[in-house]
Amino acid sequence: LEEGARSCLLRSRHRLEQDIKPSYLMDHMVSDGVLTVDEEERIRTQPTRKDQAVALLELLLRKDNRAYISFYNAMVKEAYNDLANLLHRDLPRSSTSMPFYSLQAVLSEGGVPQRPVVFVSRPELVNRVREKLYRLQKEPGWVTVFGMAGSGKSVLAAEAARHHGLLEECFPGGIHWLSIGQLDKPDLLVKIQLLCFRLEQSLDSQSLHRTPNTLDEAKERLRFLMLRRYPRALLILDDIWDSTVLKAFDLHCRILLTTRNRSLTNSVSGAIYEVEVESGLDENKGMEILALYTNTKLHGLPEEARSIVRECKGSPLVVSLIGALLKEKPNRWPYYLRQLQQKQFKRIRKSSSYDYDALDQAMAASIEVLPDEHRELYKDLTVLEKDIRVPAKVLSVLWELEPEEVEDILEEFVNKSLLFVDSHNKPYLYYLHDLQLDFLVEQNRTQLESLHKKVVHQYQQHYRDGPPTSGDEDCLYWIRFLTYHMAKANLFQELYSLMFSLDWVSTKAQLMGPAFLINDYVEYGPILDKENCEVRSQFQEFLSLSGHQLEQRPFPDVVQLALSQPHTSEVYRQALLQARDQAGTG
Ligand code: ADP
Repeated sequence: LEEGARSCLLRSRHRLEQDIKPSYLMDHMVSDGVLTVDEEERIRTQPTRKDQAVALLELLLRKDNRAYISFYNAMVKEAYNDLANLLHRDLPRSSTSMPFYSLQAVLSEGGVPQRPVVFVSRPELVNRVREKLYRLQKEPGWVTVFGMAGSGKSVLAAEAARHHGLLEECFPGGIHWLSIGQLDKPDLLVKIQLLCFRLEQSLDSQSLHRTPNTLDEAKERLRFLMLRRYPRALLILDDIWDSTVLKAFDLHCRILLTTRNRSLTNSVSGAIYEVEVESGLDENKGMEILALYTNTKLHGLPEEARSIVRECKGSPLVVSLIGALLKEKPNRWPYYLRQLQQKQFKRIRKSSSYDYDALDQAMAASIEVLPDEHRELYKDLTVLEKDIRVPAKVLSVLWELEPEEVEDILEEFVNKSLLFVDSHNKPYLYYLHDLQLDFLVEQNRTQLESLHKKVVHQYQQHYRDGPPTSGDEDCLYWIRFLTYHMAKANLFQELYSLMFSLDWVSTKAQLMGPAFLINDYVEYGPILDKENCEVRSQFQEFLSLSGHQLEQRPFPDVVQLALSQPHTSEVYRQALLQARDQAGTG
C-alpha cells in the first residue's frame, strides 16, 4: 500500500472504526476480488460491529493499492460520503487497473470538459452524484443534477465523471457529453445527428446508414447505437431546458443531466435519482476561489473577501468572475465589493429566469473594465451560436487583425473569465459561457442584424479570391455557419446564391456530411421559398435521396450523382453544365 494511502488510513482509523458497517463494504470488496471469501468469513466471525471494523482495517493496511481503492469505492457506494472524503485525497493513482491517462483519454474523446483553471473541490456534492451514478450500474435510468444558473452544475457533472471506478464498473462503454442549452427542433435534430456520427466514428466502422432526416429517425438510430453498440455507456446532457428535448433521449439508457428545472424528468420513464446543487459555495470555498485567483493565502485575504462572497451568496460563477477581475487589479477589493452592494449596474434582463442581480452585475463589471476598443470586439462575439467553439482564426477574419494580436486579445478575455478556452484541441478553441452569451444578446438586442452583417462582409472580404479550403483552420466554421449568419443578417440574396449552388452543396457535404445541409434547407426553407420554392425542394430532394452516398468516403462524384436527378431539376441543370465544362477542359 502506497505511503500516502497508508498514512491516511492510520489517521482516519478511529473514525472509520466508529462508523463503518464492514459487512456491507466487504460485499463490494469481495466482488472486486481484493478480499477473499475466507478473509471475509474471518472478519464476520468477530463478535461486534466494531471488532469487525478493527479487523477489516488491520487487514486493509496489509493489502495493496487496489484494495484501498476498492474500499473507497465501497464507501462511496454505501453513501459514507464524509468518510469517503477522508480517504479521497490519498487515493493511489498509478496502480489502478486503468492507467490515469486512459481515463483522461476516454473523457476527452467523449467531449467531457476539463476542470476550470481555478477549481475548488466540492467533495460532498461530487460523491453524492457519484453515488447516484453507481445506481445506474445494474439498470438504466436518470440522474438529474439541478440548481440555479451558475451554481456549478456542469463543472460538477464533469468532475463526477472523472472517476476510474465509475468508468470501469458502471460505464465501460464510455462517457459522452452533449451540451444542449436552449434548442428548437431542428437544432435538436442536428445535435442527435452529430452524436450518432461521433458514436459511429469511434466504432471505426464505415457507416452505411442514411443520415436520419427526422427527429424520429434520429432517435431510432441513437436507440440502436446506445443499446447495441454502447450498452453501459453514460450520456451526459448538459443544461436541458425543455422536456420535449429530454423525451428524445428517453431510450432506456443511462443519462446524467444538468438543468435549472427540476421537474423536467417528470415526463420520462425509468428510475430517476436527483441531486440538488445548492446555489452557493460555503463561505470558505468561495474565499478559496478568490485566494487562488489573486494568488494569496486564505488568511491573507482582505476583509472585503468575505463580504464579496456573502454578497453574491457564494455563487461560483460570480465569485469566479470577480476573482478574475481582482487578479488583474488586486487593489480593487473595496471597489468591486461596493459595486456588488450598490447593485449599480442596471438590470438588463427583464424576464430573468436567474433571480440573480449579482450575476448581471458581475458580468457587466467584467466587460466594463475592458479598454473601449476591446469592448467593441467582445460585442462582436454576440453572434456566436451557443456552445460553439471557434479557433482564433475566425476572429482574426472577423476583426481583421493579425493572428498574434488576436491571440493577445483572446488571452485577455480568457483571463478575465469573459471567455473560455478548450486547450485539448490544437488550435485552441474559444467559447462563451451560455450565460455570457445570453447577456450579450440581451445587451445588443437591437444590433443583432448589423453584427451578423459584419461577419458576412468580413468573410467575403477576406475570402474574395476563393472560399477557405480544408487546410484553413477556420474552414469548418465558415462552411457550417455562413448560411446562419446570412439568414440572421437578412442577406437573403447571398443566402440564395449559396444554397442554390451545387458547388456549395458538394463542399459542405464533403467537409461535414449531409446532416448539416439537410438541416439548412429545413431551417431556412421559409426564406428560400420566397425566392423559389421549387428549386428549394429540388435541392432538398437531391439531398435526401443521396444522403447516404454523401456520407461515404472516398467522397463520391457529386456531379454524377446529380445527373441522376430528373431533367427538370435545377440540380440536374447545374450538374450538366459542369459535366460539359469538364468535358470541354479535360
Ligand atoms: P452551471 O452549469 O450551474 O450554470 P457551471 O458549472 O457552468 O454552472 O459553472 C459556472 C462557473 O462557475 C464556471 O465557469 C466556473 O468559473 C465557476 N465554477 C463552478 N464550479 C466551480 C468549482 N468547483 N471551482 C471553481 N469554480 C467553479
